[in-house]
Amino acid sequence: MTNINDNYLKLRGAYLFPEIARRVTAFLEREPAAASRIVRCGIGDVTEPLVPAVLDAMHAALDEMGRRETFRGYGPPLGYDFLREAIVAGDFDGLDIAPDEVFISDGSKTDCGAILDVLGTGNRTGITDPVYPVYVDSNVMAGHTGEARDDGSYDGLTYLPCTADNGFVPAIPSAPLDLVYLCYPNNPTGGMITREQLRAWVDYALEHDAIILYDVAYKDFVREADAPRSIYEIDGARRCAMEFHSFSKNGGFTGVRCGYTVCPRELAGRTRGGEEVPLHGLWARRWSTKSNSVGYVVQRGAEALYSEAGRAQTRNVIENYLENARLLREGCRSIGLTVYGGVDAPYVWVTCPDGVDSWGMFDRMLEEANVVVTPGVGFGRCGEGYFRISAFNTRENVEEVVRRMKAMVNQPA
Ligand SMILES: *Cc1c(COP(=O)(O)O)cnc(C)c1O
Repeated sequence: MTNINDNYLKLRGAYLFPEIARRVTAFLEREPAAASRIVRCGIGDVTEPLVPAVLDAMHAALDEMGRRETFRGYGPPLGYDFLREAIVAGDFDGLDIAPDEVFISDGSKTDCGAILDVLGTGNRTGITDPVYPVYVDSNVMAGHTGEARDDGSYDGLTYLPCTADNGFVPAIPSAPLDLVYLCYPNNPTGGMITREQLRAWVDYALEHDAIILYDVAYKDFVREADAPRSIYEIDGARRCAMEFHSFSKNGGFTGVRCGYTVCPRELAGRTRGGEEVPLHGLWARRWSTKSNSVGYVVQRGAEALYSEAGRAQTRNVIENYLENARLLREGCRSIGLTVYGGVDAPYVWVTCPDGVDSWGMFDRMLEEANVVVTPGVGFGRCGEGYFRISAFNTRENVEEVVRRMKAMVNQPA
C-alpha cells in the first residue's frame, strides 16, 4: 500500500473555526428565532465589494482574453512585469527592491506553505503565540515539528509569547533561532511593531544568520506615521528577510486570490555541507516548476489597486474598516473592558472580564448578544483570556454589536 505523509496525522484537527461553527449551530437549534439576529465578527474576511478601478481593469482584461489579437495563454511563471513593476513603484518607493525580486502568487496562504519547499529540515523555528495558524500547520505538514501537546502546541517549535506586558511584540530570544515568523500589523492581536523593535529583530537575525518571514497582509491599515510598512525600511533586512504581501485585506481580494512575496537577491541559506546558497534562485525554480502563476485578469485587477483611482478608492474602504475598529474599541471600553489593537489593524483584541475564559466569553457573546467572535485561545495558549472582534463588517452591524454589548452589561445577571 502507498505511504502517506504521516505528518498530517499530527495536526490537531482544524479546531478553531469548525468548533465555532458547531457552537453556533447548537445555539440556533436551541433558539431558532435568533438566526436572523446573528452578527458574525469571527473569521477575518472582508465584506466590502471590489472597488470600481479594479472592476474596470478586470472587465477590460477579460475582453482582451475574448479577442484573438489580444488573447493571452500562459503568462510568465513568476508574474507579469506590469504587476511586478507597479508593486515596486507602489509599495517600495525609495526602498531597494527590484521587480525581479517580486514573486506573484495566488495569495499569502499559498506562499506561507510554499516557502518550506525551499527551506530544509532542522531549522530552529520561532513562532509568536498567539499566531496566524497557517505558519504552525504548514510546519507540521512539512515534518518540522514533533507531536501536538495537550494544549495544542507542538514539540519542536519555539513559541514566542505576545502578551499585554510586551505590547504583543515578542522579546528577542536569548537562544538562537534559524527561522522566525513575524506578522505586523498583527493578526489576531491587532497590534503593531515599532521601528526600533523591528530593527532589534533584524539585528538579531543578522547576528544569528537567521531568516525572518515577515507577513504584512495588513500593511495598508497602518496609520501611525513612523511605523514600518515594510521590513526593508530597516537597514540589513535584505540579507535576512522575506516579505509576504496579500491583496486580500487591502484590495478585498479574498475571493479573487492574489498576493506576492519579496525575496531579495542577497538572502541566503546554507546547504547541509555548509555552503551558502541564495534563496532567490531556489524560490524562482520552485514557482516555475510547480505553478503557472495567477490569471491575467486577476493580475490586471491587482495592478489597478496601484492606479490613482484604485488607491483612492481602497483608501476609503480601509478608512471605513478602521472607523469600525475604533467604534468597537470605544464600545468595549465604555462597558469597562480592556482593549488592545484596532488602531493600525482591523482587529480588536479584548480582555475577557474576570473569571471568564476565551470560550466562556465566546458563549456569552453568542447567547446574550447573538454576536460571533473568535476566542483568543484558538490562536495559541497566550490568547487565553482574550477574544478577537473583526472590524470587517458593515457600519450598521458594527453599531448593532456595540449596542448589544452595552445592553448585555446592563442586564441583571
Ligand atoms: C488574511 C491573512 C493573510 C492573507 O492570506 P491570503 O491567502 O492572501 O488571502 C495572510 N496572513 C495573515 C496573517 C492574514 O490574516
